[in-house]
Amino acid sequence: MSFVPSYIKLYHAGELHRRVESLEAMLGACNICPHECGNNRLRDEISRCYSGYLPVVSAYTPHFGEEPLLVGTKGVGNIFFGNCNLRCIYCQNYLISQNYRAERKNEVSFEQLSKMMLDLQERGCHEIGFVSPTHFVPQIIKSLEIAVGKGLTIPLIYNTNAYDSVEVLRLLDGIIDIYLPDLKYSDEEMGYQYSKIKEYPRHARAAIIEMRRQVGSELLIGEDGLVKRGLIIRHLVLPNDIAGSKDALKWIKTELGSETTMSVMAQYFPTHKALTTPLLDRKVRQGEYERVLALLDTLRIENGWAQEYEASEYYKPEFEDRNRPFKGCPDNFD
Ligand code: SF4
Repeated sequence: MSFVPSYIKLYHAGELHRRVESLEAMLGACNICPHECGNNRLRDEISRCYSGYLPVVSAYTPHFGEEPLLVGTKGVGNIFFGNCNLRCIYCQNYLISQNYRAERKNEVSFEQLSKMMLDLQERGCHEIGFVSPTHFVPQIIKSLEIAVGKGLTIPLIYNTNAYDSVEVLRLLDGIIDIYLPDLKYSDEEMGYQYSKIKEYPRHARAAIIEMRRQVGSELLIGEDGLVKRGLIIRHLVLPNDIAGSKDALKWIKTELGSETTMSVMAQYFPTHKALTTPLLDRKVRQGEYERVLALLDTLRIENGWAQEYEASEYYKPEFEDRNRPFKGCPDNFD
């Protein structure tokens, strides 16, 4: 029997609508992410993530750069949200994550966002991938409700920096099928210095524990050989061990177990403010990367993927060319 995402059951039970109401209420004094700014986004007041009431979508498109068991033959239907609740000085997508005035023009209605989901499903994408969704969770679920009513049936991926609120994640229980969080830092000072966030390790680890509680540690694989439910933790190795890779992997082994699925990445390259930042102004050395891979072996964390070191040579940022607003979007969608 083919996989049926549980959000469909929640929709028919009226529970999806109740979740929308609970999430929207949080926008009144925004505590959607751990920053807990307290601004009224229902009235379009903006704060740290520069995001008001309407969602900002920078692009949407079938995407083939994710992990192989997600991409399949037709790709992940990624929806890239503009703005961000982090300020990573090395962000590869800084042109959409930290370009708030320009992104304002990419605000869309809930109806438009639901149509993007349906369009990606029609184009054969295996899943919908919400990329940098944290600051727009209420808006995403509100749009999802519309899309389900019009026939959306494919699994949902929550592709996040992991600076997520556990309270918000609980409201996503049974809605999100696949969690794809980063685990960016092990040292909170590094998180503040390079992403301007407080207590990243504490919040990200609590968020990942909640994600694992919801979807378990084992990936559920469907008849088509692709992931239908589960947790995949991404770890980008940074130069000079700024990501605290050893601590991160040890924490995963101890708290989540060695059966956890990991995606370890070598693709870091200096960009944005990192080009002139000591310690981050170079790529990861092969020896640095291989030490992280060796640790995976030592800890017997065997499920998942590790990029070839050569990935750091050819990787190009997603949004290098900003002349592609609404990639894949019909000219006159309404
Ligand atoms: S989502 Fe934005 S406004 Fe809300 S708490 Fe986070 S940073 Fe602040």
